Amino acid sequence: MRIGFIGLGAMGYPMAGHLAKEHEVIVWNRTKEKAERHSREHKTKLAKDLAETAAGDVIITMLPTSREVDEIVDQLLPDVRKGTLWIDATSGDPNVSRETAKRLAAKGVAFVDAPVTGAVVGATNATLTIMIGGSKEDFERAREVLRLCGKTIIHVGDIGSGHAIKVLTNSIMGATVWITSECLLLAKQLGIDLKTALAVTNAGSGRSNASENLLPMRLVEGKWPLIFKLAHHDKDIRIATSLGHQLHASTPLLALTSQLFTAALHELGDQADYIEVAKIIARMNGTEW
Ligand code: NDP
Repeated sequence: MRIGFIGLGAMGYPMAGHLAKEHEVIVWNRTKEKAERHSREHKTKLAKDLAETAAGDVIITMLPTSREVDEIVDQLLPDVRKGTLWIDATSGDPNVSRETAKRLAAKGVAFVDAPVTGAVVGATNATLTIMIGGSKEDFERAREVLRLCGKTIIHVGDIGSGHAIKVLTNSIMGATVWITSECLLLAKQLGIDLKTALAVTNAGSGRSNASENLLPMRLVEGKWPLIFKLAHHDKDIRIATSLGHQLHASTPLLALTSQLFTAALHELGDQADYIEVAKIIARMNGTEW
């Protein structure tokens, strides 16, 4: 199969590499050097221009937000071919995705939203969880391709539902990281050793991915790697909040989480990791970890 792959960032680069093990992959990236490197490392075909990616039976986008996806769709619309499947692996906005799908459908191109979870390590090891929105038939086509990138591939529902559940699950994680950090800081201020506080939390009902995996390295070992950009996480929670507004739903904790993450993003900047929000919590209390 021929696959056009657009967006060789932290996630897209390794994903396109896995696909190249079984398929002819044509790569395009805004910064061309990355695509050139990919072509050398993974024997993928370097697209001479964006239009060349439309030669694929499948086109995959892995971009920051639905806005960039939409811009790419605009540019590729004259070149796309009837029968192509467009897989958008971006963590995007379900409302935008549904409109994008309509524009592509008018050209005979099918669309699924297929955001992923599992971080860069999951993309590198091909162990991602992939949540797909689209028809059953298009889901099966997408699964056949994406099985090379992930372990768990779930059909969530119609177009947009993959994007919806992705931003909701990231919002759960955001709120959990924030409240866990707040309580651990309080524990520290009460004179409880952080390692002990974490051990008790992880042996009890406060346990989460945040307390077991994400926070110990940062708070105890003082290591703050960039794993997932706060800018991306903030975007996801803002989309989730907008979905709540649209449904006229009462979601006060979601709204507060969104406000806190946006404030943290302004403080920490574009290149911060999302767990660095814990630094802001310490600053809000006039202290450090
Ligand atoms: P990166 O910032 O590492 O990469 C973004 C990619 O998009 C790059 O290839 C970049 O090109 C390209 N790009 C940015 N702006 C434009 C534009 N205007 N036109 C064309 N291309 C553009 O992002 P990630 O790979 O980390 O994330 C991609 C998506 O995956 C996001 O939606 C994110 O929320 C989601 N995600 C990320 C995870 C992670 O741990 N990183 C985990 C799960 C989901 P260039 O090289 O030129 O900058």
